[in-house]
Amino acid sequence: AEAAGGGDKEAVRAYFNSTGFERWRKIYGSATEGVNRVQLDIREGHAQTVAKALAMLRDSPLQLAGATVCDAGCGTGSLAIPLAAAGADVLASDISAAMVSEAQRQAQAALAAQPAGSPFRMPRFEVRDLESLEGRYDVVVCLDVLIHYPREEARAMIRHLASLAGKRLLISFAPRTLYFDLLKRVGELFPGPSKATRAYLHAERDIEDALREAGWRVANRGFISTQFYFAKLFEAVPAGSSS
Ligand code: SAM
Repeated sequence: AEAAGGGDKEAVRAYFNSTGFERWRKIYGSATEGVNRVQLDIREGHAQTVAKALAMLRDSPLQLAGATVCDAGCGTGSLAIPLAAAGADVLASDISAAMVSEAQRQAQAALAAQPAGSPFRMPRFEVRDLESLEGRYDVVVCLDVLIHYPREEARAMIRHLASLAGKRLLISFAPRTLYFDLLKRVGELFPGPSKATRAYLHAERDIEDALREAGWRVANRGFISTQFYFAKLFEAVPAGSSS
């Protein structure tokens, strides 16, 4: 296989520090002015993915307060901030410096808005690609990042993320299905002028295989779909564990 990854990664970094940053900050934000119908739909779908990930973690035997969490590719902090508000000890990292400073800004605002007695713990923020993350965390989450990478890259990323995780690994990806392929082909899914990066769909099977090779198994799965947003969300646990 050609080493497409280096190229993909640099393009992704550049995109999320420029037009991609503006586009996704808008989609993940709450303002409605200047946000088109497709973007609003993607906002809604993504919010459902975040809510589902939170619900999976809340329903697990894991105690979120005090748990160590690594959010790899945190974006504007959509998941990292509610986890921090639940008292988790969060490392929020992203390849894009622009994203990390936006996440930091939003976390400051969230902190300021917390009620008295809230367990909110300010996350640690780092500009870092997930391949170079180190350490061990109870939980590793990586939402809507694999869409930017081809199969072999994604596989290597999953292997690395699994090596950082102790109890839970949550990963979302855009599933490869006929319908989705078609939508993508007609270009509805990634509209607008800023198609600076391409989107890679992943077969559920590939993601599951990568997890299995890393010694993990999928314990829970979710499927989120709106008109223009599709994601599978896997909650994986170490293969030997019962919970
Ligand atoms: N996970 C966040 C969420 O769901 O709200 C953001 C999702 S956004 C579509 C993808 C994010 O992944 C961007 O913030 C981008 O900068 C980041 N990203 C892309 N490649 C990455 C990599 N190799 N390492 C870390 N972050 C990466």
